[in-house]
Amino acid sequence: MSRLCLCTSKRPFDKCCEPYLTGKKLPETAEKLMRSRFSAYALCKADYLIATTAEKERAELEREELTAYCRTVKCISLKIISTEAGGPEDSEGIVLFHASLQVDGKRMLHREKSRFVREEGRWVYVDGETN
Ligand SMILES: [Zn+2]
Repeated sequence: MSRLCLCTSKRPFDKCCEPYLTGKKLPETAEKLMRSRFSAYALCKADYLIATTAEKERAELEREELTAYCRTVKCISLKIISTEAGGPEDSEGIVLFHASLQVDGKRMLHREKSRFVREEGRWVYVDGETN
């Protein structure tokens, strides 16, 4: 049996986020991209996080900074609260999620409403509103 996915979908990793992280498949929906980015944070895959960020936001990201951030954060679980659009036929989508994290040994709940768009056919993360 393969291990369970890090995005806490309760599905096997190789049938959930792994094909996205390895570039074998493209996430068909904004929610799947969101899940794969959570798994990428859990695995410290800065390159994947950068590649799945919208082009105009990408320049702001520093690979080293992102890697350093990932190392300080332990991604415990992800809960998708709601989604708006973001389906295979859409060009924009919104995902509201709660991510349970551990930062410097302290548990915290990160609540975010993320915005996604499709760029050249692939879903990318634009930005998010945290409360
Ligand atoms: Zn997953």
